Amino acid sequence: MTAAQCERFMSFVSPEPMSGCWLWVGGVTTKYGIFRLGKQRKAHRVSYEHFVGPIAAGLDIDHRCRVKTCVNPVHLEAVSERENVRRWAATITHCPLGHEYTPENTYLDEGRRRCLICRRGYQRHYSRERWRSGGEEYRAKRRRWNQDSYRRCAQRAQTGMA
Ligand SMILES: [Zn+2]
Ligand SMILES: [Zn+2]
Repeated sequence: MTAAQCERFMSFVSPEPMSGCWLWVGGVTTKYGIFRLGKQRKAHRVSYEHFVGPIAAGLDIDHRCRVKTCVNPVHLEAVSERENVRRWAATITHCPLGHEYTPENTYLDEGRRRCLICRRGYQRHYSRERWRSGGEEYRAKRRRWNQDSYRRCAQRAQTGMA
């Protein structure tokens, strides 16, 4: 970036004194800040390249502060895509229905963490055999069960009994 571009870049930055994050207050896509530099670029990548250096091909920029709109180069690290995905997964501590991923309650399915409480509840309702023979009827029941179960979990979360 030229000095003028850098100045424009910094005009979109709002430093957060507690975390040290540089929050992006310019345009934002669904997740990241964007900065027009000839073409639209991800603001955190522009920041990394300007303040740290070129990003090697195939590397992602990981937010070590876990704040996706942060562009503080000190909070950014170039890592492989795989590592980036792993780090984000580690920040997810509960299954979609709100059960905690403890070692006892977690199993791996093709490398992804799954919730045992959900699997047990699910299996109690619908066994594999019924699934095989049930076809469309089974799938409709499964949808209903998922919805019910989701409602129950949401209620429990609200009353603090999750
Ligand atoms: Zn940050
Ligand atoms: Zn669960």
